[in-house]
Amino acid sequence: MSMPTPTISVICPCYNEQEGLNSFMQRITPVLEQTNLEYEILLINDGSKDNTLDVIYQLSEQNTRVRAINLSRNFGKEAALTAGIDRAKGEVLIPIDADLQDPPELIHDFIREWQKGYDVVVAKRVDRSSDTWAKKFSAEMFYKFHNMVAQVEIPENVGDFRLINRRVVQAIQLLPENQRFMKGVFSWVGFKTSVVEYKRDAREAGESSFNGWKLWNFALDGITSFSTAPLRIWLYIGCVISALSFLFGSFTILKTLMFGIDAPGYASMLTVILFLGGVQLIGIGVLGEYVGRLYMESKRRPIYIVEHDDAESASDPFHHNPVESPSLTQEKSEHFDKLA
Ligand code: UDP
Ligand code: MG
Repeated sequence: MSMPTPTISVICPCYNEQEGLNSFMQRITPVLEQTNLEYEILLINDGSKDNTLDVIYQLSEQNTRVRAINLSRNFGKEAALTAGIDRAKGEVLIPIDADLQDPPELIHDFIREWQKGYDVVVAKRVDRSSDTWAKKFSAEMFYKFHNMVAQVEIPENVGDFRLINRRVVQAIQLLPENQRFMKGVFSWVGFKTSVVEYKRDAREAGESSFNGWKLWNFALDGITSFSTAPLRIWLYIGCVISALSFLFGSFTILKTLMFGIDAPGYASMLTVILFLGGVQLIGIGVLGEYVGRLYMESKRRPIYIVEHDDAESASDPFHHNPVESPSLTQEKSEHFDKLA
């Protein structure tokens, strides 16, 4: 049985969400029905360790509008979201979290704004009282720092919960990077954007999979993906330190010429050596962050591997390779032609 082409594709990455998925479906289905538009709900299992996959298959059996997609292992939320964006068939795409922290009712506002002619509708959290103090503080610091160093600002308190239309999807698919920081990707492509405000609820069931260390790495991904300022700043730090040491050197020479050598101070010596050593290590560390990412990126591995997609008759995990850009494919085939 073939389904009518959907207008709305809801994209929901799921990692260990067995407890919450049923209530998620119960809340989002009436909202989508009320829009009177055709829709599909992509439930993407991102290598869950619990029974999420079984729950997803059950849901897709009960409801033909639910499309079960299973990734071959846990690739992380950004990859799962990318898989959904690549595979969704709708005219507009709505990424949403499975834990009901993003209220599905907001979809009505999304659709209204989209019908007014906006390409993107983002949801801005005006009230983060459900988040811990530490999370709010670190999020604020991240946005401040990111927007200071990155070329493209990402709006504060705006998550992945949003609506994007086909044009935006096509633009996003032009970004081939492996380390996907979706908030940055969304902002980078631009387009006419409307903002609707909402209050972020607490997680309905299960627990957040983003702990402190994961969030820190997520923030590093965000900053390194969209800014080279941390690399370039060492030039200026180096210049300042060199200028200061030149001044200090000149001062020492003059002093020695005029007053002769006095007892050298171990303490100041040690301080300078340790300080410079530390500064150099930080510089090398920042270089390492970028070189490591260059290395991973240069492998050109696919962002995710799909093990199953309801919309495909045969599941062939290696059939779909979303990172291979057309130009690259052509380059490769020319290369092989030459070899032949
Ligand atoms: N998620 C995922 N893969 C992961 C981690 C999370 O698909 O490796 C999904 C998760 O199921 C949820 C969404 O991403 O639908 C947001 O995750 P979570 O609620 O843990 O993040 P938080 O709301 O705390 O930022
Ligand atoms: Mg959550």
